[in-house]
Amino acid sequence: MPYSIMLDAGHGGRDPGAVYNGRQEKDDTLALVLAVGEILQNRGLDVLYTRTTDVYESPYQKAMEANEAGADFFISLHRNSSPEANTYSGVESLVYDKSGLKLQMAENINEQLETVGFANLGVKERPGLVVLRRTRMPAVLVEVGFINSDADNRIFDNNFDDIALAIAEGILNTLQMNGLIENGTDQENGTNQENSTGNNPEHSEGLPQYTVQTGAFRNGAYADRLQKELLEQDFPAVTSQGGGLYRVTVGTFPTLDEAATMERRLKRAGYQTVIVSS
Ligand SMILES: [Zn+2]
Repeated sequence: MPYSIMLDAGHGGRDPGAVYNGRQEKDDTLALVLAVGEILQNRGLDVLYTRTTDVYESPYQKAMEANEAGADFFISLHRNSSPEANTYSGVESLVYDKSGLKLQMAENINEQLETVGFANLGVKERPGLVVLRRTRMPAVLVEVGFINSDADNRIFDNNFDDIALAIAEGILNTLQMNGLIENGTDQENGTNQENSTGNNPEHSEGLPQYTVQTGAFRNGAYADRLQKELLEQDFPAVTSQGGGLYRVTVGTFPTLDEAATMERRLKRAGYQTVIVSS
């Protein structure tokens, strides 16, 4: 059975969520959930939605829906809001408590969103939130930037596809790292292995290989820029293309330990990373 994930677009219907200059949180969250869902579906996940239109459901109803559907994971997307406009910016993820798969998922999603330009405000515990408390599966609520920050809205509007992709990548990488789904490279690169510029002559079928991904983009220009920057600092970065994505990765390692060493070097140099196995 494919891994199933329920995506929740925060608010809806008579509940607009946060509003700023006529912009309504419920519209941003719905557009983003649909875009993320499409990517996840294309990558073989079973995607369920609390809503795909502008309707109201209480957070409690949403949690019960996920429980009844038996979803394996629950992700709710929101936009943040501060009392005064343009005082805060950045992404933050909320979890019931800071443990397990949901914490990893929240951290990975935040880090992926940082590659698109958002500040990373980290992961916070919010045990009182109904969608985190009443869901029986691990759950994460992502605040995708502040709706009353003009800077965050610019990032949101100008990089919408990359934001959806970043969230999807954070989800997929976390599930892959935990062996909950097979890595998507078969599906995704099945017909495009020739496109990889990161030739790996030692690759022998069946043995796992690890690499450190520092970004994945729909826009190849972003990938080029990141690869160049990494190469200038002597990181052996390569860009590979597959499934409409440009991924920038550093190195190929036979063990997770070696990949983790490279990951630490990259993090020290200020890069956001995820280890990917293939
Ligand atoms: Zn909200």
